[in-house]
Amino acid sequence: MWWQEPITTLKGIGPKKAADFFNLNITTIGDLLNTFPRQGSYLDYSQLLSIKELSTDGSNQIFRAEIANMFSRRSAHNHSYAKITVRDSTGYAEVYLFAHQKFQLKRLEVGQEVLILGKVLPGRSAAKSVTSAQVQPWKDEQVQGLGILPTYSLSGNLTQANFRSAMRQALKLAQQELPESLPAELCRQKHLLPRLQALENIHFPQSFELLRQARERFVFEELYLLQCGLLYYRSKVKDGRQGIKHGPDGALLQQVRQNLPFALTPAQEQAWQEISSDMQGKQPMHRLLQGDVGSGKTAVSALALAKAVENGYQGCIMVPTEILAGQHLATLQEFLVPAGITVELLTGSVTGKKRAEVLAGIAAGTVQVVVGTHALIQDQVVFKDLALVVTDEQHRFGVEQRAKLVNKSNFAPDVLVMTATPIPRTLALTVYGDLDISLMKGLPPGRKPIKTLCYTEEKRQEIYAGMVRQIQAGYQAYVVCPLIEESEMVEAKSVKEIYEDLTQGYLHGIACGLLHGRLKSEEKEQVMADFVSGKTKVLIATTVIEVGVNVPNATLMVIEGADRFGLAQMHQLRGRVGRSDRQSYCVLLTSSDNPETLERLQIMRACSDGFLLAEKDLELRGAGQLFGARQHGLPDLHIADILRDTDVLVEARHLAQATMADKAQFQEVEAVLKNQFDSRFSNIFYA
Ligand code: ADP
Ligand code: MG
Repeated sequence: MWWQEPITTLKGIGPKKAADFFNLNITTIGDLLNTFPRQGSYLDYSQLLSIKELSTDGSNQIFRAEIANMFSRRSAHNHSYAKITVRDSTGYAEVYLFAHQKFQLKRLEVGQEVLILGKVLPGRSAAKSVTSAQVQPWKDEQVQGLGILPTYSLSGNLTQANFRSAMRQALKLAQQELPESLPAELCRQKHLLPRLQALENIHFPQSFELLRQARERFVFEELYLLQCGLLYYRSKVKDGRQGIKHGPDGALLQQVRQNLPFALTPAQEQAWQEISSDMQGKQPMHRLLQGDVGSGKTAVSALALAKAVENGYQGCIMVPTEILAGQHLATLQEFLVPAGITVELLTGSVTGKKRAEVLAGIAAGTVQVVVGTHALIQDQVVFKDLALVVTDEQHRFGVEQRAKLVNKSNFAPDVLVMTATPIPRTLALTVYGDLDISLMKGLPPGRKPIKTLCYTEEKRQEIYAGMVRQIQAGYQAYVVCPLIEESEMVEAKSVKEIYEDLTQGYLHGIACGLLHGRLKSEEKEQVMADFVSGKTKVLIATTVIEVGVNVPNATLMVIEGADRFGLAQMHQLRGRVGRSDRQSYCVLLTSSDNPETLERLQIMRACSDGFLLAEKDLELRGAGQLFGARQHGLPDLHIADILRDTDVLVEARHLAQATMADKAQFQEVEAVLKNQFDSRFSNIFYA
């Protein structure tokens, strides 16, 4: 297909430009067409402003004027520049052309009518000033032909002109052949623009109304195909296999409950009732357990695992990191082993004889509960009777990974997805499709709220003096840093650098551990084990510790470069402390003096509700920040915005449900998926 051809087949794109395009993730003509102009960045040549109407906000604007005078000057730093004064009937503007822009002067003369495009700012005198300007002699016919022009995100030496020229060529190809990418009936029913017209108008809109309609179509297309994919995945998982109907809670469960070192909170009790009754039903459970950090999800999962075992089956729990797997193993062994349940670990670092033993036990059914990482989805892992699949901190797993694990059972196993990432309802709907949701609000009793403080650099010494006091009192602390290696681009101090600084400075003589993603897994385990046992007092780490680590003796969390973190993420980090009845602290350290940043950080002080913080994050930073494709394993959305387009999302979901219920319609979706320029959506279908 033409859209799978490399962009170098277009005129004007050689290896150098191709490399620049590659940096924008564009290699094929289809990729190019899929790269939509930045939102709100279209330049409207069809409506010229008067000088008076230009707004001095630094945005790119276009106007027509007459050159009143021009001259070249030298700045104080001896740079030469040209200043062109232009006027129309409403006022004056000064256009500045610097070094490499000065070539434009050749074509210009005083008294000439010109078309000016540039960034408009307040000028020194009464006039407005225009920089980054393109000044062209005025030609009526040319301007009429220009219409509304797109602007694209650039890289390297690419210019808007390069981009537009490539895009025009690609659209020519599309005009010859462009199969639909939505079922025809849907396009009719929803009055959506045909694909070609939508594509033309998203890049070179004939009018703003057509641009709106083009956006509408692509937003719908993305959300609809995404929902179809999720529903298909869901149907495939259920496909053909029987669900398992568990009996009511019996003696084993009773025993496990009595073994718990605490009574369940009402929130845990409620969630457990929902899970237990799902498991007793004939339909396989598909439940999302959302609970704020520290709300006690592990205990609830232990009961579910015990229930599977009580009914003669196996259960497994998959977590994203070795560290977390180790901790869950310890917790689940504590809860389950006294009741006679066998619990084993399977991760990349379980090797040799031990691995063979565990694998054999899983196959024979003598291992009843397995805690593991991605290692669980490998082909060698064969369960005898897998009835329950729990994934913890699910947003780190892809849809396909979950499917692989679920498909390791001869039945349709029950699925419990646990997440500490507070996901607003609308997002849960998209990301998880039609999972049922249990929500655990609040924390187990006896916890003191964590005191959150926000400081700038000059308080660093006092903060670390406070840390030393906590350690002298027998407690432990975390320092979290945003980066692993030094980087000139980002000012944040790398974790290694901070480790060096602290161990040689403020924390001299105190045992500190260093933890980051680049360590080998045995090294990580060791560092973590040392911190859990209290051998090291301070753990200096990247966000590796974000997920699930539980050290109740830790009472202080310092977040370095706090401005670089999302609110929800900081909330997760903060949840690592405050896990005992001792007063805990979270200190946000920033070198930023940007008032907006500081205001954002202040939200952390006032708010300890992870769900509210997640909503705020979405408001402030957009969905992409919170749920990048890498995190939730779903395709990137190019144009739809889950927050803004909630209504479309809900409608797309209903329509997708109808489609999936009708064989002929579904076949049509399968057919149009092949016409997409990329495999974002077919990947969910055919994972
Ligand atoms: P999360 O939901 O973040 O995974 P955990 O399951 O790690 O939370 O639980 C956090 C801490 O709270 C653990 O130390 C656990 O032992 C404790 N905990 C859990 N449930 C209760 C409860 N009902 N009462 C008291 N402490 C509890
Ligand atoms: Mg947890």
